[in-house]
This record gives sequence, structure tokens and C-alpha cells, in this order.
Amino acid sequence: MRQHAATSALLGVGFVPMYRRSGALSVEDPAAQDERSPEPPAEPTGDVVAAEPRGPAAARDPALNQRLLETLRERYIQDAPHKAFVTSFNNIVFGEGDPAARLMFIGEAPGADEDRTGRPFVGRAGQLLEKMIGAMGLTREQVYIANVLKTRPPNNATPTGEECQACSPYLFEQVAIIRPDVIVTLGLPASRTVLASDQSMSSMRGRWASFRYVPPLLGSLSEAGVAAAGLAVPVMPTYHPAFLLRQYTEENRRKVWSDLRQVMVRLGLAGAGAGEERDEAG
Ligand code: URA
Repeated sequence: MRQHAATSALLGVGFVPMYRRSGALSVEDPAAQDERSPEPPAEPTGDVVAAEPRGPAAARDPALNQRLLETLRERYIQDAPHKAFVTSFNNIVFGEGDPAARLMFIGEAPGADEDRTGRPFVGRAGQLLEKMIGAMGLTREQVYIANVLKTRPPNNATPTGEECQACSPYLFEQVAIIRPDVIVTLGLPASRTVLASDQSMSSMRGRWASFRYVPPLLGSLSEAGVAAAGLAVPVMPTYHPAFLLRQYTEENRRKVWSDLRQVMVRLGLAGAGAGEERDEAG
């Protein structure tokens, strides 16, 4: 118990699940509210798509990647793919973090707080995402965080498939530039877009899949694109933090933590087995 308290304090109390043998939950339930991403909390049942690691770590050049990302952002502004659909926004929320990160998180679209600040995941869902990242032993600055849509949908609506499709080339190009070792997709729109899938969240979640980069047909969006042709990145789909806030159950937290632990193992991060210890802690 003492060990769990210390670990939870370190990792951010309120996210890391701890189970007593009775099954009672030891952490507070922050009342759910706001945001999108309705997802069924069922066990994964769908076909498994094998993950394909991209091989030995490619040389990472953060300064070059940053320059490429800035150029891509300019290109996005020029192309304005969001003009094809109804949107109301104040700021383009392109993405932020380590431009050569080994781990990339992808959400669906900016909400009100993100639209106001121009930064992804800074609202309530973002605070939970930060705790999730912290529980993995990382900081927000060590990963890269982006969304499929770069502008806020009106009324905080869930992005449609068409909207995701229109914006996806810029997201995929971000992946081609950053070349992360692992992508974590947060929620249904991001998981479906990145995996070109129409499966349910419950069938994708917790199972390794693979993103394959295909350069856009109508010319490359960045210098990185050509070199990245054929790039395959392992993807772990998990629940969106906004969904988790709404349905902050022991079961859902256990599932998300299990997904993140799989990512930690894959990245060779310390403490990947910590969940089992915590299960025993009560
Ligand atoms: N939800 C998302 O999907 N992205 C954000 O940036 C914030 C909330």
C-alpha cells in the first residue's frame, strides 16, 4: 500500500489504477463531463493486425525535423484543408513536443482550450493525458502530440470521416518527419484514420497494429515524405482521455494502463512491469 501511494504520487494520483483484492478502487473518481469520443468499453475482440517495427532507430535530427515541421505547418496554412468543411476556430493547433520523439500521441481535434491557446491537449483531457505520459516515466516535452484535425470543429463535434480524410495527409506527413518508434492513437476518429480502419474502438484497443506511410499522390508535402515511403510504425490504439474522464471506471483505467504498459515494453522504458506490482500492493 505504501509503495502504491508513493508510486501514485510520483505518477499522478487519479490515473494509475490500484486494485484491492476486494476489487474496490483506491483513487478518486473525477466527475466526468465535457468533450467528445463516445466509445464502448468492451473487451477487444477483432482481428489482430501485426505490428511491424521499423528496424534500427533511424538517425534523429531534431533541428532538421523542427524545420520540416514548420515548413509543413506553412503548407497546411496555405492549403487550408479545413476550408472544405464547416469549422470555427481561432488558432490552428498543429502539434507540439519533441520533433524527433520516439513516442507520438494522436488525438482527434482541438477543443475550446486548445483553440484558445493553439496547443494540443491542454484542457481537462490534456491534463489526464499528461498524467498518462507521466505514468510512463516521460514528460510531455519528450513526446510529440498532434491531432487529426488541426482546427476546432463547431460545437466540439466529433470529426466526420470526411473531415479526418481531408486533414490526414498533413498528420501522416508529421509522422513521416518525426518517424516515431510507436504511435498511440487516442479514441475512435484518430485510430480509424491512422489505421485506415472502420473497426470499433473496442476491437482495435489494446492490440498492436501498424501505420504505413504512403506519400500523397499529388506531390510530396515535405522533403521527408519521399524518404519515408514504406515507413511502418507500430500503433497502439487506446481510449481517448475525454472518454476516460466520462467513464472513469476501474475497468477502463486498467485497460488504458495495460495499453500504455505494452507501449512501455516496446520502447524499453523502465517500470513497464509496474502494474503487476501495484496489483499486488493492496
Ligand atoms: N481532444 C483531442 O482530441 N485533442 C485535443 O487537443 C484536445 C482534446
